[in-house]
Amino acid sequence: MDGGVIIRAVMALSGGMDSTALLCRLLADGYIVSCISYDYGQKHVIEIDRAKANIEYLAENNLTVEHRIVDLSGVMGIFNSALTKKDIEVPEGHYEEEQMKATVVPNRNAIFSSILYGYGLSIATQEGTDVSIALGVHSGDHAIYPDCRPEFYQSLGESFAIGNWDSERISFHLPYIDGDKETILKDALESCNKLNIDFDTIFRNTNTSYNPDEQGRSSGTSGADVERILAFHAIGREDPVEYVTSWNEVLQGALKAQLRFHVMKQNGTERPFTGEYDKHFESGRYYCAECDKLLFSSEAKFDSGCGWPAFSEEVPDAEITQLKDTSHGMVRIEVRCSKCDSHLGHLFHEARGPRYCINSICLNFRGD
Ligand SMILES: [Zn+2]
Repeated sequence: MDGGVIIRAVMALSGGMDSTALLCRLLADGYIVSCISYDYGQKHVIEIDRAKANIEYLAENNLTVEHRIVDLSGVMGIFNSALTKKDIEVPEGHYEEEQMKATVVPNRNAIFSSILYGYGLSIATQEGTDVSIALGVHSGDHAIYPDCRPEFYQSLGESFAIGNWDSERISFHLPYIDGDKETILKDALESCNKLNIDFDTIFRNTNTSYNPDEQGRSSGTSGADVERILAFHAIGREDPVEYVTSWNEVLQGALKAQLRFHVMKQNGTERPFTGEYDKHFESGRYYCAECDKLLFSSEAKFDSGCGWPAFSEEVPDAEITQLKDTSHGMVRIEVRCSKCDSHLGHLFHEARGPRYCINSICLNFRGD
């Protein structure tokens, strides 16, 4: 600490990777930290146990952190969200997809921040010190979670300042606001090195999955899992947390979810000769990977040699949407699923007849 000045912070420690990385950053920067973990009736309440385990691990390494668990399950149990309601299933897929909105808990960050603010203000007046309210929010959350946007925190901070005495003692500290999961993990590596603590132990004691199994293992398939797996992959490390299958398998699954999102939602194209169904000629039917609409039959499939699955016709009820596509300096016909509007590939009219050139990642095959 600089010149013996006490720097003080409060933060919410969810037990996920962002807040865990944030705690390491604050400790590495010399803050005295008080943490709150919220029990809001989340199905993945195991994250609180992981948070406790990390607080213990830090204490063993002479890093003392005050940790309180605040029970909001009664009040927030009445909210409608896939994260808290037993009868709403947690959606799978890419974390930027529309269906991930089911994982929004209404007003969650406003409630959490409000409590943190009250806690921070209490510490400020009791200890006669300024207090930072540290939050691990980052840009990757913005698309789906409006209460993670910087303008929301800006506005919230102004409101709290108006509504409290001594608010000049409180400031918001959002070190990751412009970062993403990858920058957060890199930052955590640096913090752990500085603090001389083990990065893998710290992140083994976290949970990101919205639907862990009874043994607390992550499926690797929820949107949050996929995002986390890709972040560890991006920094060239294996995620130390326990999954139901091997790291290699969960990584392949996450890369597939990422590619599917890129192709179907961002009009991307898989690399030729890499798709699962390029050289696949079993008898059966091909369905949209996003919405399960029947699109093609194996009877229309042929080997075009171009590197992607080719079909001479769609099934009668597929009603595949055709759009003029002038991207990449060409005039082509883009084809999209008529039910979910996902990009599938292109349609070419050639001497031998029509060729639907479809990305394998957009299809699910079921044999006869
Ligand atoms: Zn579809």
